Amino acid sequence: MFIGHFGLGLAAKKADARPSLGTLFFASQFIDLLWPFFLILGIEHVEVEPGISAFTPLDFVYYPFSHSLLGVLFWALLFGAVYYLIKKNYKASIVLGILVFSHWILDLITHIPDLPLFPGVDTKAGFGLWNSIPATIIVEASIFFAGVYFYMKVTKAINKKGIYTLWGLIIFLLIIYVMNIFGPPPESAEAIGYVGLSQWLIIAWGYWIDRNRKTE
Ligand SMILES: [Zn+2]
Repeated sequence: MFIGHFGLGLAAKKADARPSLGTLFFASQFIDLLWPFFLILGIEHVEVEPGISAFTPLDFVYYPFSHSLLGVLFWALLFGAVYYLIKKNYKASIVLGILVFSHWILDLITHIPDLPLFPGVDTKAGFGLWNSIPATIIVEASIFFAGVYFYMKVTKAINKKGIYTLWGLIIFLLIIYVMNIFGPPPESAEAIGYVGLSQWLIIAWGYWIDRNRKTE
């Protein structure tokens, strides 16, 4: 799942308007921001295996630290706790912790059974929405556009930048999404980690948008 995670980040503005959209994106996509580092360091592994599911050629052979149920619970608690220590806001910390955890739930719905429950245990989960391209697009796009709707409803542009930066991001994410589905598979497993690092740009973009909008 890709734009669905950003959709939930956008929607979370309705749950708590205090954290910037950048922080909300940081939380909802935190697991996939960690994962490239684990890949590059050789701690986790992915393989390119066209046909493994209809939607993606990626075979997530080993990623228990970033993507197991227990791992994600740990990161969610850590994220919420660190936010609380810095900002001393209980509600926002809870919302952000839940957002980090939401990543696993969304991945659980979409992935084929490749999500480990605990590191070191072979039981893997995944409901396999990825076996159908149309079903994946319908579910993921619905979450994304619902998020866009809520974010636009809760916030208002304070200048022109507040409009263009938001629309720019929406279009950018949709282009990346379509390219991922219909483009050629990645050249190599090594490249995936480095491409994954570029997602930090989207986090920064979230802060940029949020600075130019206010909550009503
Ligand atoms: Zn993920």
